[in-house]
Amino acid sequence: MDSSRRFRSHRDRSQPEITPIKNTPQAVGFDVDHTLGIDNKLERVAFLRLLDVICGEGGRCLGTLAEESVRIDDLLSRQRSGAFTIDEAVAQFVSERGAKPSGTYTVRYKQMALESVPHFFVPQPDARLVLADLRRRGIPCAILSNGWSPLQQEKARCLAFEGPVLVSDALGAQKPDAAAFHALANALGADPHDVAYVGDNPESDAAAAIAAGMRGIWLDAEGVKYPPDLPKPTAVIHKLAELLALL
Ligand SMILES: [Mg+2]
Repeated sequence: MDSSRRFRSHRDRSQPEITPIKNTPQAVGFDVDHTLGIDNKLERVAFLRLLDVICGEGGRCLGTLAEESVRIDDLLSRQRSGAFTIDEAVAQFVSERGAKPSGTYTVRYKQMALESVPHFFVPQPDARLVLADLRRRGIPCAILSNGWSPLQQEKARCLAFEGPVLVSDALGAQKPDAAAFHALANALGADPHDVAYVGDNPESDAAAAIAAGMRGIWLDAEGVKYPPDLPKPTAVIHKLAELLALL
């Protein structure tokens, strides 16, 4: 057997049967991070670069760079859960390291993060293909993402994404709140029941979309376990291209 036939037969065996969703959704919403692409921890790196600036201006490290990375990841995790804004996260980071918080540090942090997007953000291999196919079919698409707007907008730009991009800080609502998903439906001009939302996070993407009246499609691509106590996703895909067979 030649190698291409061997690859085909393996692929055919491993592919799950995908059947279209009943009452086909009329519009699609996407999460960004770990769904349409990965950003390779660019915000951690921007904070480490800011730390370098702070130390050059009389501030201090709180530990080794490895320890600082753990602290930064924790800070970003709390910020992304909606505990405080990115500006407040920068101010906290700066003051904990002995410098006086100022807008200048916030501007520098954001600038370093934004400038790194084209270098750090890597689209899923099939993201552009999927988006182009949905465009060809005339299915409206939008992004709904937690985060600060210019950063997520820049990631969407790297994907050549043409639809609306809704980001929690500008929206004033954040996943898993239903208000964020209702804003998405509104941006898509569709009833929530006619929207399929695709994301990697079981709780804040799939289950939250279902709770908001949408179809929640879980992208299971990173070995995350779907908590059994959550409502089951409408469908499970293992790569974005599988979405096309569902619609
Ligand atoms: Mg995500």
